[in-house]
Amino acid sequence: MRRFRIGVLFFVLAALALAEEGKWTPQQVLQIDPTWLKQQGLQLPALKLWDPKRGTGLLAAAVALPGCTAAFVSANGLILTNHHCLFGLIQEHSTTDNDLITNGFIARSREQELAGKTTRITVPRKFTDVTKAIEAAIPAGVNDLARLKAIEAKQKSLVAECERTPGNRCSVAAFDGGLQYTLVEGFELTDIRLVYAPPRAVGEFGGEPDNFRWPRHTGDFAMARAYKDGKPYQCEFFYPIAKTGVKAGDFVMLMGYPGRTFRSMTADEMANERRLRFEMAKDVFGEWIGLLEQTTKGSAEGTIAVSVMLKNLNNTHTNAQGQLDGLERGKLVEKQRAADDAVVAWAAGRAAFAGALAAKQDLEKLAEARRATGARDYLYGVIGTGSVALREAASLVRMAGERAKADEEREAGYQERDWIRIRAALARDTQSFYRPSDEAILSSWLRRAQAEKITPAVGRSALDLFRGTKITDPSERLKMFNESLDQLRARNDSMLNLALALEPELRAWRVATDTRDGAIARLRPEWRKAVIAHAGKPVAPDANSTLRVTFGHVKGYSPRDGVMYTPQTTLAGMIEKSTGEEPFAIPRFILDAARTAKTREIPLNFMADTDTTGGNSGSPVVNGRGELVGLNFDRPWENVANDFGYNPDVARNISVDVRFLVWLLEDVQKADFILKELGLK
Ligand code: ASP
Repeated sequence: MRRFRIGVLFFVLAALALAEEGKWTPQQVLQIDPTWLKQQGLQLPALKLWDPKRGTGLLAAAVALPGCTAAFVSANGLILTNHHCLFGLIQEHSTTDNDLITNGFIARSREQELAGKTTRITVPRKFTDVTKAIEAAIPAGVNDLARLKAIEAKQKSLVAECERTPGNRCSVAAFDGGLQYTLVEGFELTDIRLVYAPPRAVGEFGGEPDNFRWPRHTGDFAMARAYKDGKPYQCEFFYPIAKTGVKAGDFVMLMGYPGRTFRSMTADEMANERRLRFEMAKDVFGEWIGLLEQTTKGSAEGTIAVSVMLKNLNNTHTNAQGQLDGLERGKLVEKQRAADDAVVAWAAGRAAFAGALAAKQDLEKLAEARRATGARDYLYGVIGTGSVALREAASLVRMAGERAKADEEREAGYQERDWIRIRAALARDTQSFYRPSDEAILSSWLRRAQAEKITPAVGRSALDLFRGTKITDPSERLKMFNESLDQLRARNDSMLNLALALEPELRAWRVATDTRDGAIARLRPEWRKAVIAHAGKPVAPDANSTLRVTFGHVKGYSPRDGVMYTPQTTLAGMIEKSTGEEPFAIPRFILDAARTAKTREIPLNFMADTDTTGGNSGSPVVNGRGELVGLNFDRPWENVANDFGYNPDVARNISVDVRFLVWLLEDVQKADFILKELGLK
């Protein structure tokens, strides 16, 4: 084991220069050949990026915003991220009379900034390798479920210890399925207030038709401020806005929290993701999007209420199509099968890798077993994504069950450290509930659940469930949050009754999932050892929502034969695309400000070959001096399936150019309060 790790380190040092592929951890950045980094265009010493002794550096200015990334851009806690990442906060303050989604928002002083109920960020502080501690906590000879429980118990105790420091928020992340575990220490800021949002027509220009597409003309950015003890949070590190922008060929560096990729999976596992994640999402979410659109037609109230869910479903649905398309076009599963076979052939003659070969076979058996219950499991999984009322009922029942246990016995996500979030989400939900839409989604889920023989769904109608529930009453719902299982049962509330009836099935599903995850935690590291040794070069770990850095250059690409995409777009392109109809309708005041030919040359979006995925939304893109040149928000179509494998020909991300942001704030919105803080006035 030890020799193997030294081997990995050596490869990182020696061979990182080979490609832009790789979402590198802060620790790995310090191992990269500094000469190579300099040649690429980095003008700062690597220690300036991350100083492990101090637990900070320029990378600490990239903070985690659940599902996204955000960047500090001033010493007073001003945060820049995507419009789509602050959409929930914008929606929280939108009403039919004051629709911030449509009109945008601009604070002209600190007093006008708008606080949110659930928006939080985590600032990174320290990364500690805890692999040995986790491995030592697994008793010899245990079964897979007990293995997972032992890993989780150790993770929880490490987290609890780490969170003894006030304000800390910690987690243990697994790399390569458990080849390495890292304790991630960060501190959390819970008072985040909206400072600026452009009108949706700018922040989401092009909407779904342009999502995951190039050429792109979207002003996908918004701003907030972090407060600590009621005062603007003071940060040592932030990204100043670059005075000069980027051009084709320029070096860029991107930091953020990429969520999840599938590159370390075997071909069979990838095929499962295709079928059980993306084909299912296409089918189920496709239907739900239609239902949300139909049920809110003509209702301003309904449109605002479902906007967050609709946006998320649309994004996941479009992404799923992109993944399926890319898997097919690139024959990625077939290529992975050939790659797996090559490792098997190589390892077959090497006694040291006998365990890896056995592990691969067992991973395949697990993949096959997963297929048998995949469609049903998917429906259990989307309880958390679909009907607001059913999600709340399921969460309240689960909460009541977990509360009865000692804190260290409670499942992750339901420990005391999580209660404040669960309660805040229950309060926040009121803004997102629209009965006609929720009823339609619940009907769809019930119909599908019956077809999959999920027994508690049989014979239930959404209409009856809503007639007999108090869960949609915010004050009742918050009372339920403090109740025991017996008290919830005694209410005889139809929605809670459904959740109570579902709970034993959900528990069995969680046990099956945990057992499989326990087996994977045993098998994947074995198999990965062979894959990495066979590769003979660094293999970047799959994304796991931890801080990563990727290096690249501003660059176009060819999407198909005879077509070449240039890497930058301008305001002129946005105006050209404008039809006056959503999602291609630019607000009049912007059109008026963009009259001159000079203005129309303002750069709007650019592409680079940095290695990103979902979760990198809002990632700061900086030049060699650490100055902000853009804000990542997307990838083009041909690169959506890069989650399964990196293809340098099409591996591109898409960013908003800071020159557009400055133009919008300065010339159009006259946002002096913000500009002064950014040092631009
Ligand atoms: N827009 C993307 C997202 O959904 C970012 C990406 O996938 O590259 O998070």
